This record gives sequence, C-alpha cells and structure tokens, in this order.
Amino acid sequence: MLDLFDFIREIPDYPKPGILFRDITPMLANPDALAQAANAMAEPFLGKKIDIVAAAEARGFIFAAPIAMALGAGFVPIRKPGKLPFDLHSFAYELEYGTDELQIHVDGVKPGQRVLLVDDLLATGGTIEACCRLLEKCDAQIVGCSFLIHLAQLGGEDRLNPYTCHSVLTYD
Ligand code: 5GP
Repeated sequence: MLDLFDFIREIPDYPKPGILFRDITPMLANPDALAQAANAMAEPFLGKKIDIVAAAEARGFIFAAPIAMALGAGFVPIRKPGKLPFDLHSFAYELEYGTDELQIHVDGVKPGQRVLLVDDLLATGGTIEACCRLLEKCDAQIVGCSFLIHLAQLGGEDRLNPYTCHSVLTYD
C-alpha cells in the first residue's frame, strides 16, 4: 500500500495569493497510486447497487470513469454552460467573487436511479452541493459523495448534509 499523501504536491499561492493548492497530478502519473486512489474512493460503495456515477468537470471526470467501472455503474457528466448538447437542468451558485453554473442532461439520470457523486477534492462544498441540486432536479437517489481529498476546515461536509460523505485523504 502506498501513502497517497506522498503523491499530493502543495503549491502555495495558487491560483491566487493565500491559497495552498493540492496538486494531484503526481498521483495521477503513477499507475499504482492512481489505481489505489480510485479503488479507495469506490470501496465503501461496492455492493450498494450504484446505477450511475456522476461528476463535474474537469478533475471529477478523471476518477468517475474508473469508479463507475469498479462499481458496474454508468457515468453521467455535469458540465459548465455551453458544453452539453441536449435539454438541460441548470444550477447557478455563489463563488467568493461572482457566480458559476453547472448543467446536466435532463435524461442523464432517470427518476429513482441510485447515484454516487465523485470529485477530486471537497473544499467549501459549493461545487458538490450544486451537483446534488442538479441530481435532485432529476429525482435521482443520491447514495453518497466520494472524494480523494477533504479539506476539513472549510466546512464542506456540513453543506452535504444529509448525504453520506467519504474521503480518502483528509487535511485538518
Ligand atoms: P469547493 O466547491 O468545494 O469549494 O471546491 C472544490 C472544487 O474546486 C473541486 O471541483 C476541485 O477540483 C477544485 N479545487 C479547489 N481547491 C483545490 C485544490 O487545492 N486542489 C485541487 N486539485 N482542486 C481544487
């Protein structure tokens, strides 16, 4: 077993002063670390009858496909405006400065389907909360959310209440 913390590179003041960015690219480049990370994200949801793994672009996509295959599930993309071609549900949410918006195809998830949401990192929870709202518009059943990294001091887990939240690496 590898210590996955060893593969996360810390970049001070990126993308702006005062932010310590957790760069996952060294972990993605290592085949054993990548496989261990994807398996650890999927593991609590094995046998939970997941129909669909959903993720927001871009880093969420990297993990969503191998996790979907490990769980015997399909994959549904959640994207920024202008990227998905069919009829859409949209959800706009607040950022520190301004707003952002995510979208999903109206038929991406069928009512009642059991969905696992994944992303590389949980910070304030704004992104994953927006994903939850989109899945709720589809009348999906959200089984849980799985992250590689959780920045615990930013309170993101509270915003996911009542959904189950699993993370592989936690920074206090
Ligand atoms: P939140 O919406 O929870 O505040 O931020 C999480 C989203 O921003 C994730 O989609 C993640 O990809 C991105 N993000 C924020 N900070 C970092 C970071 O330090 N490292 C990485 N890899 N992604 C980050």
